[in-house]
Formats: sequence, structure tokens, C-alpha cells
Amino acid sequence: MSKIRFLQLLFIFYLLGSCTQETWNVEQENVLRQGVLTRGVGPMEDAMEGLKGTTLGKKLIESLSIPVKFEYDQSMKPGTMGYVGRGVIRYNGLSDPFGPLLFHELFHVYQMKEIAVASRNHEVEAYMAQYLLVMSIEGAEEKDFYAVSTKFVDYIRKLAKYTTWSVMDTKGSIKFQRLYEKALVELRKHHLYGTNTNYTEEPGPYSFQNLYNFLSIK
Ligand SMILES: [Zn+2]
Repeated sequence: MSKIRFLQLLFIFYLLGSCTQETWNVEQENVLRQGVLTRGVGPMEDAMEGLKGTTLGKKLIESLSIPVKFEYDQSMKPGTMGYVGRGVIRYNGLSDPFGPLLFHELFHVYQMKEIAVASRNHEVEAYMAQYLLVMSIEGAEEKDFYAVSTKFVDYIRKLAKYTTWSVMDTKGSIKFQRLYEKALVELRKHHLYGTNTNYTEEPGPYSFQNLYNFLSIK
């Protein structure tokens, strides 16, 4: 069975298998709405508990090979979160709900393990993972996912649909490659991930290798 076909079946399984009532709004990475700071009462741990209540969140947390630590970092822009390596996710400013962004950062831990690398490929994949999480939550609608730009969201949706619904020969993955490339173009234009930042990228052919590995874990 091809990887894309396999991923497609798994995706369908997760959509059917979602069991949580909770619906989260999604915030763009590092552009979280600034809410009331709840420092000292374990807000990140609360969010982790929320994620454990979802099929994908539980699976991701259980799949991490290194322990995760949270560090409140006052020097960061309020409403931001980021993976800095060695299992450390730094944050400043919280707004609730923000579970999907935490899922995104945890997916970076899964992708990169000890050493964080600023990579646009990692971002496309992490946003795809985030999209799958959001859409697996019961009652979720397409508008519940937002990231980077309207066009970027559109490409992520199309990549997911292409991955999910394509029952054609996956040698026809030219379309997948093209959509992935378009998603990269959107990231290149973005101030957080763009060509004027330290983000780099790997050339194609592109795949969601880490996501595939993650979803393949029994
Ligand atoms: Zn990211």
C-alpha cells in the first residue's frame, strides 16, 4: 500500500474515531491572541491535559521520545510559543483555548527531537498535523483552522483533501508536490518564516514523512 493511501485511510479513521466534545479555535503560531496571563497555575499543563483528551493529542504525547518542559519567557513577544530544542517549549502570554498550537509545538518535538531546526518543511508538516487535530475534534468546522495566511490555509486543506480523497494512483503525486510548493511559497513571504529569517528549506520531492511515521504508530 502506498504511503499516501495509507495516510488517507488513517486520516479517515481518526476523523471517525474522534471522541472529544471540545472545540478549539486555532491561533496562528506565535500570534496567539493575548489573554489573561495565568502564570504559576500550570496553564501549559492544563493544555496538555486537554490534548490528552483527544485521540491524536494523546497519541502524540505518548509518542514523544524526550520529556517536554515548559519555560515561561518574559522576553518573548506576548502571545508567543516556540520549540527551542531539548524538549523545551517556551511561551509568553496565554490565551485559552490554545491546544492546537501546543499540539503544533509538540509535533515539532516529535519531528526534531533534541535539536530544533528552523525549517519551512517542518512548518508545512506541523501545520498539516495541526489541521488534522483540529478537524478530528467533534463539531469542528473548516473555519476553526487558521494559520499563516488565507492562501496557506487553502493549500493545507487541499493537501489534506488530496491525501484523503485521492483514490487514484498516487504516482499522480505531481499535484501533491505542487500544492506543497505553493504552501512553501506562502511561508517564504511570511515575516515569521520568510526568506529574511533564519528558516531554511529542503528541496523536493516533498512528503509528510514524520506525520506518516506518527500516524503509523500502533
Ligand atoms: Zn511551527
